[in-house]
Amino acid sequence: METKKIAIVGAGISGLLACKYTLSKGLHPIVFESQTGIGGVWTKTVETTKLQTPKPAYQFSDFPWPDSVTEDFPDGRQVLEYVESYAHRFDLIKHVKFGTRVLSIGYDGPPGEAMRSWSLWGGDGGPIGSGGKWKIRVQDCLSLETETYEVDFVILCVGRFSGVPNIPEFPPNRGPEAFHGEVIHSMDYAAMDYQAAREFIRGKRPVVVGLQKSALDIAMECSAVNGVERPCTVLYRTEHWILPDYLPWGVPLVLLYLNRFSELLVHKPGEEFLLSLLATLLSPLRWAVSKFVESGIKRKLPLKKFGMVPKHSFLQQISSCLVSTVPEKFYDRVEEGSIILKKAPEFEFCKNGILIDGEVEPLNSDLVILATGFRGEKKLIDVFESQLFQDCLSGSPNSIVPLYRECLHPRIPQLAVIGFSESVANLYTSEIRCRWLAELLAGTFKLPSIKKMEENIEEWDKYMKRSSGQYYRRSCIGALHIWYNDQLCRDMGWNPKRKKGFFAELFEPYGPTDYVSP
Ligand SMILES: Cc1cc2nc3c(=O)[nH]c(=O)nc-3n(C[C@H](O)[C@H](O)[C@H](O)COP(=O)(O)OP(=O)(O)OC[C@H]3O[C@@H](n4cnc5c(N)ncnc54)[C@H](O)[C@@H]3O)c2cc1C
Repeated sequence: METKKIAIVGAGISGLLACKYTLSKGLHPIVFESQTGIGGVWTKTVETTKLQTPKPAYQFSDFPWPDSVTEDFPDGRQVLEYVESYAHRFDLIKHVKFGTRVLSIGYDGPPGEAMRSWSLWGGDGGPIGSGGKWKIRVQDCLSLETETYEVDFVILCVGRFSGVPNIPEFPPNRGPEAFHGEVIHSMDYAAMDYQAAREFIRGKRPVVVGLQKSALDIAMECSAVNGVERPCTVLYRTEHWILPDYLPWGVPLVLLYLNRFSELLVHKPGEEFLLSLLATLLSPLRWAVSKFVESGIKRKLPLKKFGMVPKHSFLQQISSCLVSTVPEKFYDRVEEGSIILKKAPEFEFCKNGILIDGEVEPLNSDLVILATGFRGEKKLIDVFESQLFQDCLSGSPNSIVPLYRECLHPRIPQLAVIGFSESVANLYTSEIRCRWLAELLAGTFKLPSIKKMEENIEEWDKYMKRSSGQYYRRSCIGALHIWYNDQLCRDMGWNPKRKKGFFAELFEPYGPTDYVSP
């Protein structure tokens, strides 16, 4: 039988994993990567950026971190080296076409009308279904020549945190065009050489917009270069629970949130009556655990003093995959005045800087760095030529991007997405998804009907709205990752219970090494 051709878009962690596991099933993957190297977001980070997830949770199941990396939170360079050695170990590089951007993908198969009438994915519930083909239009990033490839299956691993910056919108003449200084996005800052970045901010009065990891790292770099002479202002909309470490009151956070017991306290999508009852009965404990962590953070960081106590719970923070750690000595810099924290739910630009809603005097500045994230959804959706598929993936404005098992759209045949929905350790989540996908491609299991997949997506949609509030579109499975993995394991015919003994199963944290072998 002819070997099916697989196109993988992106050679970040997700694309490399997809490559490894499709190869393991005897398939022929070709990986298109627009950059000149592998590693995606880790190819270039802000100099001081470190891994946010503790190293044991952010590792390949069959490839431990080398002994030479002794830090619990390796820096960007170390993460890239680890990913590169993984790719060499499993001989993945030869499958990657570097400097090749995928411009668009178009499906050549049954017409839209016929596809709408399907009750099974792709017509028969199998991976290649009706036997249509995907046409992948690629461009050589140097010569700009284009070429078209024909494949049986596409795996989109284009990443969520790069490429298309999220730039806030402003009324006419109140955006960056009104400002006489410079405005850049954090991705432009991260792209600079470390020395060039330092020179770029030297002597300026920067404003960093945002309160996520990149914003804090950039603010630290600005304060290190300019000190209290020219403080860096961090403009934020919402306070967040940012961890000083993963040990609130000395208790490992993984024991509080990443074991089966912690998941018993949460209402789960598709849960049975007994589990639902248990989650309701245990809700006071859920609340108490969250308060315990919050008080541990407040004990170590002067949040109250600087008006930084969030209004939402820590449970919501972790359920939205918004957990990050505060850079070392960050609040020392705030105390000394080289970093100023300023809440600004709304702001606009003016000639000399930024005008915060409700304030009369502008915040004078000559450089604004927008650490306002990325529009990962847009990057994903725009790659489709077909309006029908674009609409399918967009879903409704009030729902998550509708992906079954966070991998497949029930109405887009012969295509999977890896690395869109988030968890607290994205590498490990991408790995188990790639293994699930490889088993599907190998015919180990078939998918349920489209109706059943849509019902399942709806249940997760409700869960995400309940648990993540305004951040539900991040499609975070963080607080329920074991429950989620259980479903993938059952599909693949693996035993979802990976620990030895009742107490270990209930209280030991789950991580990548629990899924080394079926
Ligand atoms: C600064 C930073 C710190 C982070 N820290 C953590 C952490 O501590 N823990 C954690 O779990 N997660 C963290 N993340 C999230 C991180 O994105 C994931 O952990 C993971 O690296 C994502 O890998 P990916 O392969 O899915 O996506 P990416 O790494 O974004 O890779 C996508 C690849 O696709 C390529 N590509 C995109 N579009 C095209 C196209 N059209 N044609 C060809 N190639 C294309 C890109 O060039 C890129 O190489 C962090 C992210 C950032 C930005």
